[in-house]
Amino acid sequence: MKVRVAQRKMFLAGKWVDRDRTITVTNPGNNEAIATVPAATKEDMLEAIHAAKRGAEISAKLPVFRRIEIIQSAASYIEEEKEDFAVTIALEGSKTIREARKEVERCIQTLRISAEEGRRLEGKTIPFDQSSGNENRLGYYSLFPIGIIGAITPFNDPLNLVAHKIGPAIASGNAIIVKPATVTPLSALKLADVFSRAGLPNGILSVITGRGGEVGDTLVTHPDVRMISFTGGLETGTEIANKAGLKKISMELGSNSPVIVLNDANLKHAVESTVSGAFWAAGQNCLGVQRVYIEQDSYEAFTNQFIEQTKTYRTGDKLLDSTDMGPLINEREAIRVEKLVEEALKQGAKLECGGIRDGAYYEPTVLTNVPTDVTIAREEIFGPVVLLFSVDSLQEAIEKANDVNYGLQAGIFTNHLQAAFEAIQQLNVGGVMVNDSSDFRIDSMPFGGVKGSGLGREGVKHAIQEMTEPKVVCFNL
Ligand code: NAP
Repeated sequence: MKVRVAQRKMFLAGKWVDRDRTITVTNPGNNEAIATVPAATKEDMLEAIHAAKRGAEISAKLPVFRRIEIIQSAASYIEEEKEDFAVTIALEGSKTIREARKEVERCIQTLRISAEEGRRLEGKTIPFDQSSGNENRLGYYSLFPIGIIGAITPFNDPLNLVAHKIGPAIASGNAIIVKPATVTPLSALKLADVFSRAGLPNGILSVITGRGGEVGDTLVTHPDVRMISFTGGLETGTEIANKAGLKKISMELGSNSPVIVLNDANLKHAVESTVSGAFWAAGQNCLGVQRVYIEQDSYEAFTNQFIEQTKTYRTGDKLLDSTDMGPLINEREAIRVEKLVEEALKQGAKLECGGIRDGAYYEPTVLTNVPTDVTIAREEIFGPVVLLFSVDSLQEAIEKANDVNYGLQAGIFTNHLQAAFEAIQQLNVGGVMVNDSSDFRIDSMPFGGVKGSGLGREGVKHAIQEMTEPKVVCFNL
């Protein structure tokens, strides 16, 4: 499909603006330019922050029923234009059209949940008479918006991860400035468009398309920005946290998620779920399965079935329904993954399938015999590569699963209650999926990690907690 190069404007405090300097957005599947967006400057970011001060006041005063109407209306526009959104995701990013359609469905869910949670901005009464002398005091607390939120988002879910910040921010009466990933800004701009059409007052939302290295610091360090909600890599997240100063930060970072498969597991289900979890979005998925620990007696059968299923994956044109996996976000990323695999092979790992790169495409790859101290076994691959290990016991699997600097989600396949509970208690992660791979998530559950995987939680209700402050009221009667 030949695509016209569209000149997209950015959404600055309710106005669509262009700039002489632009960034070209390309389709990583064929390197064709699909659009240009403004290359925002520090001045643009300052203007957005300035407008957001007024936007935050307007948002805080917006009655809850209006917030709900606006968010529901934005969700309905997306519902009407589903395929257009899906094609945008598939063109600018790595996802196949099937994966992109799922992201659009999830985005609609995220917004509808945000609208519902807007109804539940509840406080609590406080029994002040619990200490003597306060018998005549009566009071409560309720949640107040934090003000201006700076949201910085990654390329791998260019629509739904932006919705996870905009939906809760508007539901809780804040203003929000989004800086989407430079390689995938189009989905975020489309989201701004539906909010604009839904009647969101000017100033509450801006989507500023600029490079993190150029406009990031202005957003992160500005004293009027009261919270940075970041989703991205550990290195960028650490840099941002170091610079942010006195403001709230929420960090949704990466991982190298483990999955444990015990002898009593339903192997067919474990294989299907783990293969899908490993190669979703070409492995560029914060929850993606990277390390699988299989109990010894099942190792051979699991490995054979896993390889067999991986070999059925069709890589290619993202817009074809028949394609299972698209390219990585660019060739540089595919080369990075290729080098990590080569390093592991040099140190004794065995290539079971895949390991071939063609431009930005990297075949779904399975490695066994991987030494535990090589980079690929310790860091986040963020590509379509999975490592299979044999273990003697559940305890060994848990220790190895925990022996990294990440902890987002883990999966365990077993029908043994006690084993499942042991894993739940001992795995040092933000979520344990029993009889699902680490890749399982719904948009309303608390979502986030421990260690290098982050700080704070998303999942609409939990994001709202992060984006609000309780204010205490006490009457001395
Ligand atoms: P990234 O390189 O860390 O970039 C994320 C965002 O940060 C982009 O918008 C980027 O802008 C911006 N940025 C870069 N340098 C900045 C700076 N100095 N100041 C402010 N912003 C800056 O991550 P990515 O490659 O897009 O995404 C992949 C990573 O995200 C993986 O590690 C993945 O696991 C993680 N992730 C985590 C979750 C989660 O929920 N836990 C979900 C999805 C992805 P530019 O694009 O302009 O560089």
